[in-house]
Amino acid sequence: MPESRNSVQDIWGERTPFRGQGKWPERLDYRVREEPEQWIQSACVLCSNGCGIDIGVKQGRIVGVRGRPIDEVNKGRLGPKGLNGWEANHSPDRLTSPLIRKQGSLHEATWDEAMDLIVRRTRDIRGRYTASAIGFYTTGQLFLEEYYTLGVIGKAGLGTPHMDGNTRLCTATSAAALKETFGSDGQPGCYFDIDETECIVHVGHNISSTDTVLWMRVLDRRRGPNPPKLIVIDPRKTATAKEADIHLAPRLGTNVALLNAILHVIIREQWIDQQFIQEHTVGFEELKKVIAEYPPERGAAISCVPAEQIEAAARLIGEAKSLVCTCLQGVYQSNQATAAAVQVNNINLVRGMIGQPGCGILQMNGQPTAQNTRETGADGDLPGFRNWENEEHIQELAQIWNVDSSIIPHWAPPTHAMQIFRYCETGSIRMLWIQATNPAVSMPNLPRMRKILGNRNLFVVVQDAFMTETAEFADVILPTALWGEKTGCFTNVDRTVHISHKAIDPPGQAKSDLDIFLDFSRRMDFRDKDSQPLIKWRTPEEAFEAWKACSRGRPCNYTGLSYEKLSKGSGIQWPCNDEHPEGEPRPYKSLVFPTDADYCETFGHDLITGGVVSPEKYRANNPRGRAVLKPAKYVPPTEEPDKQYPFFLTTGRLVHHFHTRTKTGRAEKLQAASLDAFVQIAPEDATHLRLRDGDWVRITSRRSSIEVQAAIGEIEPGHIFVPFHFGYWDNPDRARAANELTLFEWDAVSKQPHFKYAAVKLKKVSKPSLSQPKMVELHPEDHPASSMAHLAEQASELAQDVVAGVEKRIKPERAHLADYIGLLDESERRLAKGFEQVRKTHTDEPDVDALCKLFAGWSKEAESMLKSFILKYGERREGEPKRLDKALLVKRSQGGFDMLRDFHDLWLLVNESMMSLIVLEQAARALRDQGLLDTLKHIQDRNERQLTWLKTRINQAAPQVLIVPI
Ligand code: SF4
Repeated sequence: MPESRNSVQDIWGERTPFRGQGKWPERLDYRVREEPEQWIQSACVLCSNGCGIDIGVKQGRIVGVRGRPIDEVNKGRLGPKGLNGWEANHSPDRLTSPLIRKQGSLHEATWDEAMDLIVRRTRDIRGRYTASAIGFYTTGQLFLEEYYTLGVIGKAGLGTPHMDGNTRLCTATSAAALKETFGSDGQPGCYFDIDETECIVHVGHNISSTDTVLWMRVLDRRRGPNPPKLIVIDPRKTATAKEADIHLAPRLGTNVALLNAILHVIIREQWIDQQFIQEHTVGFEELKKVIAEYPPERGAAISCVPAEQIEAAARLIGEAKSLVCTCLQGVYQSNQATAAAVQVNNINLVRGMIGQPGCGILQMNGQPTAQNTRETGADGDLPGFRNWENEEHIQELAQIWNVDSSIIPHWAPPTHAMQIFRYCETGSIRMLWIQATNPAVSMPNLPRMRKILGNRNLFVVVQDAFMTETAEFADVILPTALWGEKTGCFTNVDRTVHISHKAIDPPGQAKSDLDIFLDFSRRMDFRDKDSQPLIKWRTPEEAFEAWKACSRGRPCNYTGLSYEKLSKGSGIQWPCNDEHPEGEPRPYKSLVFPTDADYCETFGHDLITGGVVSPEKYRANNPRGRAVLKPAKYVPPTEEPDKQYPFFLTTGRLVHHFHTRTKTGRAEKLQAASLDAFVQIAPEDATHLRLRDGDWVRITSRRSSIEVQAAIGEIEPGHIFVPFHFGYWDNPDRARAANELTLFEWDAVSKQPHFKYAAVKLKKVSKPSLSQPKMVELHPEDHPASSMAHLAEQASELAQDVVAGVEKRIKPERAHLADYIGLLDESERRLAKGFEQVRKTHTDEPDVDALCKLFAGWSKEAESMLKSFILKYGERREGEPKRLDKALLVKRSQGGFDMLRDFHDLWLLVNESMMSLIVLEQAARALRDQGLLDTLKHIQDRNERQLTWLKTRINQAAPQVLIVPI
């Protein structure tokens, strides 16, 4: 029999019920086109569940797959994507040779030509604008070894802070929420908890579509003896919601209000574990205070979930003896994403349900290898969950890579995907290297994205296996090997690491992403401190060993794993080290969390504004191994339905497709099962608009319009749903991509875009008439970013600059650096003048004369210290300090109120200087200009002392002057 079931129709297959605290039975799922000659061990990369899979090979081609019953993740089961998605490997439209854009169109090139061009452009741009003009936008589908290599190249080779991945669109909030609560990324729960728990809560997690095999596990528990209760929070009536004991359908964007109301009832009814809270958490009193403002009635008024349902859900959660909560995009891509995900963590924590069998949190991932981008530093975070604000962590990395620590960008938070694209839009990033992802369909606000990717001054490299909508914008395209055509490891949601062995060769000249990165590093000649090659590995296994060393001592400890061990049977969970040689399913079973200030990955954020908590503040309240309970008040979404745009749009996935269908759209059965986009609409709304199933509807937001067919039912009135998978590569005739409509904005903490709400209007149309939104015209003449003539011209300019010395090269490109040096210089001049004036005014004060003289001297010294940097970077005089000076420090009399006002004015002037210092310090760190950095620190130290003195004098003078006037 060629397949164990028709999984496209029978998505979850037959039930194999089992009891709580039992073992999930095995079930062998398979699908083959021909009898394989051999089976190669792998794991599925079509969602973050990471099912163990064997690849069937015959005569150098993949002919089928089967589940691995030995694997703890899936026990032999596979979903429709796993059973069918492999067909994409043999799609006839694979990219098989590099392409270079010349005079507006793409032409075949050799690897040497393509890589030489990329290296020349990288050197040129870095030379003229620093590495801060280069960005990487990677994926959630490469392998761990590739991400780690990319991370080292970006951070220790180039030193760019602009690295992120499309994981920003799917798992960023998962990581952010785990960091806020537990001090570090890393999943607290595991899939075994599903086997044991009494109660499961899926929040914004349509698990039956997104993680089909994990849903089989839930269903098998639900059909067995002692089934767990199930609560589902989702605005749509999905298959998951239909299975639930309680389904809460909140209005879009109101998760925080609803979760706060659930927490309110749990705390009110004392369904909490006081001892656990006291011994293992901090922040309970603050949480209680905020939660008190959200009784169920208020939660109901905001979320439109009836108060009785909130009470009932809270009771189920509160009375359960064990609890597993999971979240996905309904939380992560919605309003107040991190704040909501953190409230889910809070539910488990106040109940004391973590680290024991049946008690866990699964902050799910969207993409199959997303976990590895977060662990290895390919998404901007530092490898091994290290803290960019902890100097010791930076030194540790510098030691591992044998580089100077200043090359590792750590002067500010890493740049997130949307900010990277914004920099591309403004022209600040001039080279963007995109790997295995398709932002021209997956990013929000596509009209804007097309303009960004088509920016004449942006040099775009795309590394992919297919000609995607994004590749259409590329200056260079590098063809890549897919899963099954290369060896490497990846880690799923519950920290299970799998190895995937190479089963077949890639087509044509396609190469693995690892080989491309290694080639780039070699051609760029990245070196360490001893002039040895920065990247010391050549094979996936060597890269894995290098990564193991980097993970030592960190929460994601891989040191106990090896290719050999991983090739023996099931995937293995990290941490895996001497202490846990077979891996540890529950990293927090000791109830010690990685929150200690010296160990944690972050010092946290304000959940409403995203402002970072300072190291000093965090250290002052060091949680030292206790979890952090962080409350958040509800803040409404920025865009809500109104008269003009009366419907609320949410977007999401379908069971048969993954992301922009680059692979699943090329698997015959998957594509046939879900051919096109549609709009799901409530029957009441359909009646009002006179719509029937299949009618064409134009959906318009403030960004753009699309046209799709109506599918009526199973969604709340006022809401509509459109799947986001469908772009234009296989259907260029109609505007249909959901992200034409979505908002270009992000969550304050995780910086994950808001895909789950946008105000739209609907109109029935007789037939579609909007064609695919126009591509921007792509460099009909030679692209200035890639043309040989332009390169030659730039190379000669660069050579002249180098001859003239680095200063000449930097000056014209650093106009704004000169602005701020000018501002600082002027501020210090004004300060010197100000302190002199105050000294001369208040001569009778015992300390003013001496100290103001000293401070005026410091400011004059600062002016002279800046001279060499003015020569180096230039100086442009700005008017602010002069204007401030004019408005402040007017002629006053001695003592009393006038003196208080003078101190007040000096305080403002010192702060003007401090602002310039803060801004310049960031630039100095990015320029790795230690001399400038030392000078700024020196001036800053003195200014801080001026402020301290002024504050002391103001504190002292204020009550006397204001209360006892003279
Ligand atoms: S559940 Fe995910 S990992 Fe498992 S077979 Fe399906 S797509 Fe692949």
